[in-house]
Amino acid sequence: MIRNAVKTALVLCLMASPAASQSLAKELFGAKTTSSNQRAAPHGGYAKGCLAGGVRLPETGPTWQAMRLSRNRNWGHPHTLAFIERLSTFAAKQKGWNGLYIGDISQPRGGPMLTGHRSHQIGLDIDIWMRPATRLDLSRADRENMSSISMRRAKGAYVNKNWTRQHHAILLAAAKHKAVARIFVFPGAKVQMCKDEKGDRGWLRKIRPWWGHHYHFHVRLACPRGAAGCVDQSPPPAGDGCADAEEWVRNILNPPPPNPNAPAPKRRREYVLADLPKQCTNVLQR
Ligand SMILES: [Zn+2]
Repeated sequence: MIRNAVKTALVLCLMASPAASQSLAKELFGAKTTSSNQRAAPHGGYAKGCLAGGVRLPETGPTWQAMRLSRNRNWGHPHTLAFIERLSTFAAKQKGWNGLYIGDISQPRGGPMLTGHRSHQIGLDIDIWMRPATRLDLSRADRENMSSISMRRAKGAYVNKNWTRQHHAILLAAAKHKAVARIFVFPGAKVQMCKDEKGDRGWLRKIRPWWGHHYHFHVRLACPRGAAGCVDQSPPPAGDGCADAEEWVRNILNPPPPNPNAPAPKRRREYVLADLPKQCTNVLQR
């Protein structure tokens, strides 16, 4: 008992030390190769948080393969893994698809990364390749070397010939899933889906145009029910968002002149551990 108390005090001291709390969070989280021994819980927000008790997506499942295994970013909340299982089962039923190639989810303990994304910090963001998963027997080396394929032309104003009805069907199925908060994809794809959808349009609200996202689409799950301290993004504006996407496309085709009074872009400060929710210190320790 006493020994435990002393140990706890010592650990608290170490963690409270200004040195640890002022360390760059991306270095602390980027160094972890396994998840924390805790109950699964996202702490904080998509772009400023961490993941307790992360679960590793199996490298190969019946209807998916995790790509770029060297990055060790195939860790997520259990709900995320369940979603991938379900969506990939659906994808496997589409003509020309045997499942999904899964890109980055999160690091083992989530948190900021040494390279790449700002989000993907709480195990609820998933990058899914646009390239149809045909082979599901890719080797580790294949998964490092193979690339996805782009779906865009004219800088994202339109889809190209690689875009198919099956892409529409898979994004629709993803958007209709109740756990999904939003899906990021390049503007041309959203406008195409707006045009092609002849049925219920409610799901289009969750499809959000964004830069990049023509080699993959990005699914963001909502905070799981009862996950205290998990910070949801505010919901997308009401409506199907199609007019907004069209405006985005017009601006790609005819860029408005730069605003001379625009403030200089702010340089974002990198997060130190003390910037993250306090539970993230624990997540690093356990
Ligand atoms: Zn992403």
